[in-house]
Amino acid sequence: MHIELVTIGDELLLGFTIDTNGAWLARELAQHGITIARRTSVGDGAGEIADGVRGALERTGAVITTGGLGPTSDDLTKPAIAQLFGRAMREDPDVVESLHQRWKSLGRTGEIPRSNLQQAQIPEGAGILANNHGTAPGIWLEDDRGRWVAMLPGVPREMRGMFTEALLPRILARRVGEPTVVRSHTIRTTGIAESALSDRIRNVAGLDLEGLALAYLPGWEGVDLRLTSRGTSDEDAVTRLARVADRLRPAAGAYAYGDGNTDLAAAVLAALRGAGKRIAVAESCTGGMLGARLTAIPGSSDVLLGGIIAYHNDVKVAALGVRPETLAAHGAVSEETAREMAAGARRALGAEVGVSITGIAGPDGGTPEKPVGTVCIAADVDGVVKSFRAIMIGDRQEVRQRSAQSALSLVRRVLNGTA
Ligand code: ATP
Repeated sequence: MHIELVTIGDELLLGFTIDTNGAWLARELAQHGITIARRTSVGDGAGEIADGVRGALERTGAVITTGGLGPTSDDLTKPAIAQLFGRAMREDPDVVESLHQRWKSLGRTGEIPRSNLQQAQIPEGAGILANNHGTAPGIWLEDDRGRWVAMLPGVPREMRGMFTEALLPRILARRVGEPTVVRSHTIRTTGIAESALSDRIRNVAGLDLEGLALAYLPGWEGVDLRLTSRGTSDEDAVTRLARVADRLRPAAGAYAYGDGNTDLAAAVLAALRGAGKRIAVAESCTGGMLGARLTAIPGSSDVLLGGIIAYHNDVKVAALGVRPETLAAHGAVSEETAREMAAGARRALGAEVGVSITGIAGPDGGTPEKPVGTVCIAADVDGVVKSFRAIMIGDRQEVRQRSAQSALSLVRRVLNGTA
């Protein structure tokens, strides 16, 4: 089954809104073996909408639109598509009633604005796709040749709810024959470059991927390995992905920290919990990012004691016990300082593990010996300290993100004995 998507809105063409609706819908439909044949974005004008939908209908006979259903005057999707189908607009009493109900349930008094009632204007003969997350109902419009257009709202949360609850069941009910699916499995790695990772994988003799596609997806968190299966039954895809992932994981070795959406911070908290240890953080250039990564994971309070943001050297000395001689001899961005920061955090907060980050996030402050991006990271586990120095690539934000990720990675490797 092929479907075309038409996402509607001037903001999409101007680049102020990124078409996350299109990406989300494509992924969801692929899981049910439905291919997006083409994605088009058009402006808010009735003519542009009609042109975009007309072409898509002619090619596939199955079209989903998002956007332009709300109460504002730029929302012209429904009348433009109704005209394409030769249908008039009429007020739907059920939608009027549900708009009144929602108005009251939100505690609003007085008359409902006319622009809101506009949402009850529905093309003749159209089906309603219930909106349980907002006011604008979705529309299903079909002609006597079975060609259809489903109109969803633009607001991502409303669009997703309506798709899952009202549209997907309709689409699946029309499908004939055994469905084939597109499914993926991700293995997350960190601390290894894409090229080194691919060498390791290539060097595994006789590694059988069983026809699955393998993609390397690098980012500031590390390199994700994504296996994708296409064109088989769901059951076959799931078992094949699990089997091949089990073969691939050892090739990534200690660099692999989890599957799917696993956050490294969650993996580190679990490792600490397993080892019966609590952690304290000391941060300079990341200014709390590492602490934020750990506190973002629910239930972290049993393992994370707290942290010290030691940006100024005086604070590194006073709060973490870094020796002024260390700072004078090696500078604030040095493995020596990082090691004393980690040990200081551990002592100051009474933890078993201390971890520290000190670096030059840029854009200024670099020198030939310590260019922008130079970061020193240390972890102290029960008094045994490991540290390293690296040059992180990217802008200030990315240097800081990569630093926090690397600090988590060091703690994980110290705990599992691979540091
Ligand atoms: P409203 O009730 O707000 O008028 P609507 O269904 O008419 O909803 P739009 O007005 O087109 O939808 O868009 C509402 C908001 O939803 C936009 O401001 C934008 O933030 C978001 N949005 C719209 N289209 C997309 C898209 N394709 N991807 C991601 N976000 C989008």
